[in-house]
Amino acid sequence: MRTIDHWINGTAAASTSGSYGPVYNPATGEQQAQVGLASVAEVDAAVSAAKAAFTTWRSSSLSKRAEVMFRFHELVLQHRDEIANLLSSEHGKVPSDAAGELARGIENIEFACGIPQLMKGGYSEQASTGVDVYSIRQPLGVVAGITPFNFPAMVPMWMFANAIATGNTFVLKPSEKDPSVALLMARLLQEAGLPDGVFNVVQGDKVAVDRILEHPDIAAVSFVGSTPIARYIYATGTANGKRVQALGGAKNHMVVLPDADIDMAADAAVSAGYGSAGERCMAISVVVAVGDVADKLVPAIADRLPRLKVGPGTDPTAEMGPLITREHRDKVASYVAGAPAEGASVVVDGRHNDLPPEGFFLAPSLIDHVKPGMKAYDDEIFGPVLTVTRVDTYEEAVELVNRHQYGNGTAIFTRDGGAARQFQFDIQVGMVGINVPIPVPVAYYSFGGWKSSIFGDANIYGPAGIEFYTRTKTVTSRWPDPSTSSVDLGFPRTR
Ligand code: NAD
Repeated sequence: MRTIDHWINGTAAASTSGSYGPVYNPATGEQQAQVGLASVAEVDAAVSAAKAAFTTWRSSSLSKRAEVMFRFHELVLQHRDEIANLLSSEHGKVPSDAAGELARGIENIEFACGIPQLMKGGYSEQASTGVDVYSIRQPLGVVAGITPFNFPAMVPMWMFANAIATGNTFVLKPSEKDPSVALLMARLLQEAGLPDGVFNVVQGDKVAVDRILEHPDIAAVSFVGSTPIARYIYATGTANGKRVQALGGAKNHMVVLPDADIDMAADAAVSAGYGSAGERCMAISVVVAVGDVADKLVPAIADRLPRLKVGPGTDPTAEMGPLITREHRDKVASYVAGAPAEGASVVVDGRHNDLPPEGFFLAPSLIDHVKPGMKAYDDEIFGPVLTVTRVDTYEEAVELVNRHQYGNGTAIFTRDGGAARQFQFDIQVGMVGINVPIPVPVAYYSFGGWKSSIFGDANIYGPAGIEFYTRTKTVTSRWPDPSTSSVDLGFPRTR
């Protein structure tokens, strides 16, 4: 059985813990490799390497750091197909999903290429007579990233591009379900000229995460994953004195007003509900149909589903791939199975399909008349199941969205600019789309939900990422008046 390693101090490091996790090919259901799950000692080795590399890396010039990022950007583009193939083989993404993930990840490297501009501080001349005050940004030291299975290339890039460019050294703990992309990125960073020890990968599970959370030499932790774990990471990391950003799960509502363009809304619901098999934290999972719009919208969505091609990532025409594991597929399917008993109606049942049973496939499902209190409404399903909740008015729609525990993303579909503007004012969600179903901010803004979708106040990537990975130092300075110098320097007195 092939074993997937760690990457410590610039080289592949075979796991020594004796503990392994399975890595499947979700399209075939076969275990294709095992990943070493790091022990405390292995995490410690990665942190030691990062700590040793910090002094030199933080002293490197901004232009040197930008140069590494530019070269890394070039290498990622050159290895686009190899990365996409890895995404497909371990996660199951179809080519369009893999390309989309990579494109949104690469934006973050582009952003980090501007590090000389981003690291600028502030300067106040003559705060008092002869006194200047200025602030500078400095890196934190060793920082760690813990990432989810659903974007094994993009979410690490959300973190390490800015973390490294700001002068920190980094320890990445990727998801143990699709661990290989992280190693390819480590090799490309090295080829781009990043010194050994600046970027390290420890594969692992809770043992590795817990060691990261308590390690005295780790200054900050970035986490993206499910809400229960995000809550735990935030509580434990901050109790240990670390700066922590922890992004959690979601239940994204798409509100469709009666005046919306039905074809536009149906196309958006299908791509945002079923893209990446619904395993996106910004996936639309609830359509909130206002007034009588559901009578036209539900059939329009249902009509589109048989045309959505489900298949393996090796099929260039496939539009939706398998789920990550058999257990997750079965859990997602259980929401469809349980819906009728709760009073909802299954319009399209994805469990009835002719997909290869050994792969972790589930075809798209559509459930109508779903209400709060039903499991299919309350839980984050994280699969290809779109539900429809019918409400009479705009106010009811807003109240529904605002009552949900999650507040990651939301969208409104309407032709009315005033209604859209009111929605952006009223809604208690961190990222809002207006006729845009998945409003993931571009890399020069920052990403973050509200409520149980985030713990702490630090959004991720973009300007918030630069803030998170740096701390400011403020200097107040006064120089002796040059005219009082015993050597005549010929300076006028400071006024
Ligand atoms: P997860 O929470 O199960 O795992 C995330 C990371 O935490 C992994 O690296 C995993 O090894 C680790 N982990 C898991 N259980 C742990 C435990 N008990 N103790 C310590 N560490 C543990 O999430 P997932 O299933 O990999 O990813 C899907 C979830 O991530 C969904 O809820 C999705 O909404 C969320 N997500 C959120 C965002 C966002 O930006 N808000 C983005 C992507 C995914």
